[in-house]
Amino acid sequence: MINQELLDILVCPIGKTELRLEEDALVCTKCGTRYPIEDDIPIMLIEEATLPEGVTKVEELACWQEEG
Ligand SMILES: [Zn+2]
Repeated sequence: MINQELLDILVCPIGKTELRLEEDALVCTKCGTRYPIEDDIPIMLIEEATLPEGVTKVEELACWQEEG
């Protein structure tokens, strides 16, 4: 289980946005990208993440566009 303290400092690496904890992933509250949690370690790499439905590349993410 990921502790709250760790969760508080982790953000979406693209938009620096807050994450929501789900059973087996951390999900960006803004762009919806899912970062998997493996052995209690969140994998905060876009290469390992699952993009939200309808998004085929990172450039289409809400977080990415915010950054300009
Ligand atoms: Zn995001």
